[in-house]
Amino acid sequence: MIPTPYYLIDKSHLLRNMETIAYLRESSGAKVLLALKCFATWSVFDFMSDYMDGSTSSSLFELRLGHEKFGKETHAYSVAWADHEIDEAISYADKIIFNSIGQLQRFHQNARSIQRGLRLNPQISSSSFELADPARPFSRLGEREQEKIEEVIDDINGFMIHNNCENSDYSLFEQMLEAIEKKFGAFFSKVKWVSLGGGIHFTGENYPIDVFADRLKKFSDTYGVTVYLEPGEAAITNSTTLEVTVLDIFNNGKDLAVVDSSIKAHMLDLLIYQESAKIKPNKGPYEIMICGKSCLAGDIFGTFQFPEKLKIGDRLSIQDVGGYTMVKKNWFNGVAMPAIVVRELDGTNHLIRNFDYMDYITSLS
Ligand SMILES: *Cc1c(COP(=O)(O)O)cnc(C)c1O
Repeated sequence: MIPTPYYLIDKSHLLRNMETIAYLRESSGAKVLLALKCFATWSVFDFMSDYMDGSTSSSLFELRLGHEKFGKETHAYSVAWADHEIDEAISYADKIIFNSIGQLQRFHQNARSIQRGLRLNPQISSSSFELADPARPFSRLGEREQEKIEEVIDDINGFMIHNNCENSDYSLFEQMLEAIEKKFGAFFSKVKWVSLGGGIHFTGENYPIDVFADRLKKFSDTYGVTVYLEPGEAAITNSTTLEVTVLDIFNNGKDLAVVDSSIKAHMLDLLIYQESAKIKPNKGPYEIMICGKSCLAGDIFGTFQFPEKLKIGDRLSIQDVGGYTMVKKNWFNGVAMPAIVVRELDGTNHLIRNFDYMDYITSLS
């Protein structure tokens, strides 16, 4: 048995998302790039790249990773490129997307050999979390003023817009797209491609995938552009679990269990967005709070129901942890870093990476 903690990526679950993506590409004509910000576990890139068109990035290192390990089409985006990064970035990229007109103008000459895009900010929100809302007030993510965009339209070949955030509501997507077309539609006919970004939960259950595909196709036909999507979470949703073991159990007014992991170190978004982890089936007469082993008082996965009392040594599977977890794991408290295990399509588990004291010590000096 592989020792816990470890992240377990199940390829058969990943395959379901990949098949949905392949179907969407086929039926809509849109191109689909993996957003590495969400998921960068490159051991499964060979598997994923058969179903996708390439990758997109938010930094020089992600860009290089996409170029080296994902292959196919590589989009380069960064909120701001540094002078010492730009030429290296362009050497890896098929397209570079600038976040501001200032950056476009600064690096326009460097980037003349590849396609150039500009990020637009439609100022339309889909998210209730202001922290993760690209369209929040005073957002630095993209340009918004028509007159300024008009002035540089001849220097660019495309646009990128990313304002959805885990949006599983098709009609909300559609409504926002219409507003975006009203605002920026005249510009779209003047370029070759428009990326609608990520944050659209089209691999979720009951998402109207055919209606979505038709809408993308209509968008593409209306303006004569290639449409790109940049899913992160939607590409890997429900593919990965975090496997942990119960180390201690006691009652401090409430039954609680301590496991060999930590949300602060291994599932940081639970802390940032104050959400509970998911455990299946979460049914039964025994309720217990599952806690992390860091010293942070609020390091708590959540309170769950179990059919039987938990015992020291029991293993638990924290569900749906593929996105924004492995890319954010850290060495807080020196808690042992979860290994990475891949379950192949035939059901065998492969330990592909584990981390030890040397990794901890080399992460600082
Ligand atoms: C974060 C991000 C994505 C991926 O978002 P998901 O919500 O994980 O699908 C795509 N494009 C851009 C520009 C992003 O910032």
